[in-house]
Amino acid sequence: MREEARNLRKTPPKVCMSYKSTKSLYEMIEIETAFHYDFSMEKGTLIILSGPSGVGKGTVRKILENLEGMSFYFSVSMTTRAPRPGEVPGKDYIYVSKEEFDRYIEKGNFLEWAEFVGNRYGTPRDIAESYLNKGVDVLLEIETKGAKQVIAKCPDALSIFLVPPSMDALEARIRGRSTEDEETIRRRLDRARSELELASQYKRVVVNDDAERAAKEIRDIILSSHH
Ligand code: ADP
Ligand code: 5GP
Repeated sequence: MREEARNLRKTPPKVCMSYKSTKSLYEMIEIETAFHYDFSMEKGTLIILSGPSGVGKGTVRKILENLEGMSFYFSVSMTTRAPRPGEVPGKDYIYVSKEEFDRYIEKGNFLEWAEFVGNRYGTPRDIAESYLNKGVDVLLEIETKGAKQVIAKCPDALSIFLVPPSMDALEARIRGRSTEDEETIRRRLDRARSELELASQYKRVVVNDDAERAAKEIRDIILSSHH
């Protein structure tokens, strides 16, 4: 059984096996990537961190990145949303026009993409795949529609659903972040109510009561998935 699981990890899902070069993307996020495909090499784990907007995915992921024993590539998404103050292009998101985003869809360059409260967000396929193929774990921080697509395409992905301790706590967090207007906050909260029902689609559910504690729980989940 354990051997079977190991073999499953070595065999990337089909969707992760085909890639096309997107040079401009690499230039944008300033990474060097070689397109080697080595079948003998152990593949990285694809980690999906999902949950409603404002639950604390970004906060927990940033803590996780610095925890002892953690090493993964955070997949920088492409979005049509305008940058928030303090966000860094290429680090937080790759900001593109609607037209450019549509061109990526047409070329099949997204592992997944979704519309979220008026904007589009997508995971560039090639970068995630090249890291996985080099044996590096890749973490996608994405909303639930995109997560559903990845779970379907990559069933061996480690899917983690982050939930708030309560709806009141979620509302307080979205408001406390002060990044959206009232209408957007209401739409995000409406959506969160239905998203919370999707927990059973994920392999693991983690409550973000305390961000540090939640990050450590996720670290333990990731480390135990490697055995
Ligand atoms: P997401 O990435 O899921 O949209 P963020 O990481 O931006 O969420 O977090 C939303 C807000 O909630 C931020 O202001 C953040 O500081 C706060 N926050 C995150 N985790 C916690 C927590 N465990 N307790 C209290 N506030 C939190
Ligand atoms: P925000 O505008 O708050 O940065 O993001 C809105 C939602 O989109 C969040 O839940 C965020 O995790 C999600 N998101 C970010 N990048 C992607 C992506 O590439 N694909 C999908 N499906 N969702 C994403």
